[in-house]
Amino acid sequence: MKRVILIKYGELTTKKGNLNYFINTLYHNVCRKLESFSVQIKKDRAKMTILFEDKDLEQIKSIVDKIFGIHAYHIAVVCDSNLESIQKTLLDVVSVEDFHTFKIETKRSDKSFPIHSQDLNPMLGGFLLKNIPNIKVDVHQPDLWIKVEIREENTYIYHQSYFGAGGYPVGTQPLGLLMLSGGIDSPVAGYLAMKRGVVLDAVYFEAIPHTSLEAREKVITLCKKLSVYCNSICLHIVNFTPVQEEIYKSCRDDYCITIMRRMMYRIMDLLSKKYHAMAIFNGECIGQVASQTLTSMSVINEVTSVPVIRPVACLDKLEIMDIARHIDTYETSILPYEDCCTVFVPKHPVIHPNLDTVIREEAKFDYLSMISDAVDSVEDIIVTSEDSEFSDIL
Ligand code: ATP
Ligand code: MG
Repeated sequence: MKRVILIKYGELTTKKGNLNYFINTLYHNVCRKLESFSVQIKKDRAKMTILFEDKDLEQIKSIVDKIFGIHAYHIAVVCDSNLESIQKTLLDVVSVEDFHTFKIETKRSDKSFPIHSQDLNPMLGGFLLKNIPNIKVDVHQPDLWIKVEIREENTYIYHQSYFGAGGYPVGTQPLGLLMLSGGIDSPVAGYLAMKRGVVLDAVYFEAIPHTSLEAREKVITLCKKLSVYCNSICLHIVNFTPVQEEIYKSCRDDYCITIMRRMMYRIMDLLSKKYHAMAIFNGECIGQVASQTLTSMSVINEVTSVPVIRPVACLDKLEIMDIARHIDTYETSILPYEDCCTVFVPKHPVIHPNLDTVIREEAKFDYLSMISDAVDSVEDIIVTSEDSEFSDIL
């Protein structure tokens, strides 16, 4: 039996004029992800098929599960689009299954096929009843629900269906910069951004010696886990120590976090221009901490002209944690290494900062040259999902 993974596009099919662009990007992503396997990948406007070697099926499935732009897929047996071949293949497919009740659902996409779907269902069902003892039809809750898709080039017969990762293929949107801390929220924000097709670079603000190399390693591990959903992520590491120390030396205690976040945003703004990124993504969540009240967000956001997108802004922490577990970043995120945001937290950070006060406090030191130095000295690391050892770059 010749088996393929039969991929359905889902939301992509609403793209009309742009459909080819979306499908081609998905095709490119699938080819890249499966380049180490012996597969044949074909695409058209309705579906994509992957012809695989049986031994590789489980491994390929686990990769396909993480490719955005795939709505659902089926493990289908392929045969010629004529009645005799369909009946024979159907029999082969079901005879290895253990079932008592079944249902057949036929879809005739090839309108030149001479028999209508509503006639084919009883015809194929009758054929099975005649050839297999002790089975019967149950259209409501069958043990085996067999789908027969008749298309011009081939017919596909399957009863194993799986949901795909959904979303749009990565690469259908341009570059965005993800502010990646070691926490729970920002990797989830990155995952959701990629799910909409965004290509991501990550930016990590490091404050050595106040933060440790373990904290850096944690962020690299998170990048590695995220890069399963694309191919690789370029991680830009910003030396934030001079800016941060200056803030805590010069500025009012309760405004330090607000000012620190504005400095981060200013650096993000410059990095977006440097790398031609169209948006900044982060894991801010409305009301989660003092710097994430709407007033704080508005005062902090004021320093950048690049759109700031906060994919988890309206989710509860428990919802964010569920996604973090699903994408396997949770266990890494809860490792107890301090982030630059947590090392200098004042006792009473301002919850509703006043913009005039912020501007007055910021005028106490020459932040422009400091943020420009920070941008110039960024360290870049390419992280791919295959990397297993980081000791050489630490
Ligand atoms: P997370 O939000 O990822 O769980 P967190 O709760 O420690 O981590 P917050 O203090 O809530 O982080 O910061 C809000 C967002 O700002 C983060 O989600 C992240 O996008 C960004 N951010 C915070 N610290 C850093 C950092 N050191 N480097 C890069 N981005 C950061
Ligand atoms: Mg957070």
